[in-house]
Amino acid sequence: MKAAVFYGVQDIRVVEVAKPRPMAGEVLVKVKYCGICGSDLHEYRHGLFPESPFGHEACGEVVEVGAQVKGFRMGDRVLPFFKGAYADYMVCPQERLLGIPPNITWERAAVVEPLAVAAYSVKKGNLQSGITALIAGAGPVGLMTLLALRCLGVSQVYVTEVLGPRREKAKELGATSTCNPLETSVSSWIKERTAGRGVDVAFESVGIEATLKDCLTSVRVRGMVIVQGIFTDRVPIHMLGFVSRETTMIGVNSANPALALEWIETQGIQPERIVTRILPLEKISEAFELLTAEKKREIKVLIEP
Ligand SMILES: [Zn+2]
Repeated sequence: MKAAVFYGVQDIRVVEVAKPRPMAGEVLVKVKYCGICGSDLHEYRHGLFPESPFGHEACGEVVEVGAQVKGFRMGDRVLPFFKGAYADYMVCPQERLLGIPPNITWERAAVVEPLAVAAYSVKKGNLQSGITALIAGAGPVGLMTLLALRCLGVSQVYVTEVLGPRREKAKELGATSTCNPLETSVSSWIKERTAGRGVDVAFESVGIEATLKDCLTSVRVRGMVIVQGIFTDRVPIHMLGFVSRETTMIGVNSANPALALEWIETQGIQPERIVTRILPLEKISEAFELLTAEKKREIKVLIEP
């Protein structure tokens, strides 16, 4: 079978590898789609874990079941929450599998994972429906956070984003207002829109100093900053402002797929609207290049083995 192997910085190759066999407690999944995640892009640019299996936003069909597997059988459509999905087939332990409800399309199933990350974030913040929110960064996780907030009934959501196509997508998905943080002072922009108070909660969704700073300076006194970006550099924080304004800051790095699926079924959201392109496995290098380009137009790219 074919699989993409990550050899080092900006070096992904599609190679022929042995088709894996499921061991006891595992199933073999024929991958339908695997979304490219921001964390994969970090690996691609910085070469963090060469030759480790990667690709974890998959959906597919069970084609073989190992011994002692209960509750899954051949033909089941599943979400394998496991690495190694840029390949024709992958094995996944049964406890990391979730069944896909019959009315959910493959495209929608493929973006349950990023929606699940956002679902976990908003849950962790324990947010109420009447609040105001800022999302700094409209990449896949930022946009999914926007959908998650709307599912919670939060209607005032401001989004900052450097790239035009992503600001447009945020508008399309229901952002109250958007701005380019390179051209606007985000904290003044937020204060104008919240009667000088600041937002109740801000989501850092990029992983750089500028967006963290925008979040810390845009939340109200005793507001909350939820950090979900992947930081590769250390960042200085203005601790006096943080302490005197009694800001709460929490980090999140988990997913709540059950809640994501519940929202998809009960709230009619369409998370697949962030998918801007589907490319075959052979073109995975091109896909990574499209997503790391300076002026990228793509938001979520799915790989189809
Ligand atoms: Zn991911």
